[in-house]
Amino acid sequence: MRRNKARSEQSELRDISLSVQAPEGATELSARIWAFHAPPRAASVTPIQGFRDSFFNSPEFRCASLRAVLRRTSGALRTLQICSRQPFWASAFESLRRNIGVELKAIILFGFFALTAPVLGGLEKYSSLVRADSAPATSAPPRRGVRITYLGTNAYLFETRDTTLLVDPYFSRQSLFRMAFRLRPVPRNDLIARWLQGHPKADAILVTHGHVDHLYDAPQILRQTGARLIASPTSVKLVESLGVPASQTRPVLPGRTLSVKNAIIRVLPAQHDRLFGAVPFDGPLQRLPPEKISDWVTGVPLAFIIEMGGKRIFINSGGRPNDVVSTNGRPVDLAILGVAARDSIQAVSPFLAQLRPRYFLPSHQDDFFRPLERGFVFLPFTDFPAVRAAASASSSQLILLDYFRPWTLR
Ligand SMILES: [Zn+2]
Repeated sequence: MRRNKARSEQSELRDISLSVQAPEGATELSARIWAFHAPPRAASVTPIQGFRDSFFNSPEFRCASLRAVLRRTSGALRTLQICSRQPFWASAFESLRRNIGVELKAIILFGFFALTAPVLGGLEKYSSLVRADSAPATSAPPRRGVRITYLGTNAYLFETRDTTLLVDPYFSRQSLFRMAFRLRPVPRNDLIARWLQGHPKADAILVTHGHVDHLYDAPQILRQTGARLIASPTSVKLVESLGVPASQTRPVLPGRTLSVKNAIIRVLPAQHDRLFGAVPFDGPLQRLPPEKISDWVTGVPLAFIIEMGGKRIFINSGGRPNDVVSTNGRPVDLAILGVAARDSIQAVSPFLAQLRPRYFLPSHQDDFFRPLERGFVFLPFTDFPAVRAAASASSSQLILLDYFRPWTLR
């Protein structure tokens, strides 16, 4: 057959692993493979139940073009694939080649904007819209209303005298490069520790979906605060696979209402923004515990209406123009709407029309690929002037919050 070609290709591969579609009779089959090809150095045969091609469809494996069809005594045809582990640079290149998709387009677009757009800057241009308390952040939360602290991306701390909630806490920002190439996320435990020193208390963490920029830091914060996670079943599975006990998690789906101390939380349906027509990192769970950024999959996206301190706050992480949100006919005091991408920017007007909030706080519009300690800078994808125009066509008051500067919604 293609024996000679196979041999030469095989000799080029290093750290070879063989994978055989062998539901049964694996030992016999491997023996036959050894007979067919000389055993490669440092190789092992791994028979895999229900082997699929996609098993090795990950960038760090390069699968050789070699595909030998083996005929077993029973006459069944088996496919043999030979894969080699690749060095980092090769896997990055392979990932680039395979993922001429959403993330790569994002990186190209980001680069384009970064080069061509005028420096977008931070909030200084819009200082008249920025709200902040005059009282120091270390003081106790006010008796009335909700103190809100923005932690960047879509992360918020909501405090009343008796209840403390976090939404989508995210300190360990990953670079766009790391995101686009689906590498392993790098934790920023130093930032988390610094934050928890000043804010050791949290009753619950609410998470809108399973992406790294919403869920990645939750396990660490759950462990250190003893808070309970309220999130989709997918997000809960991701977090539990990292050792958080089930007693600390509460999987929820849209339609649920639950209470945490003196807060009532309504879980609402939501849609994730599309980037170039697709939701990034979507689909079923890939790997538990998660290893790469792409293992943190969306799950069922959620939005929340939080009632606490006598106020009603709607929060999502983004959306689409056809999103329908039920408020039981009552307007909310504050709508926090993610506006990271075109979908969600176009959704601002319909959301404001449905929610009729007193205040509208656009969210997830900062450059969350930069380290958090570098401060607020607009994300090049976003279009704050369009967001502002949508707000001015509504009866809601547009406000902005800066990182770590609390503001009390009264
Ligand atoms: Zn997301």
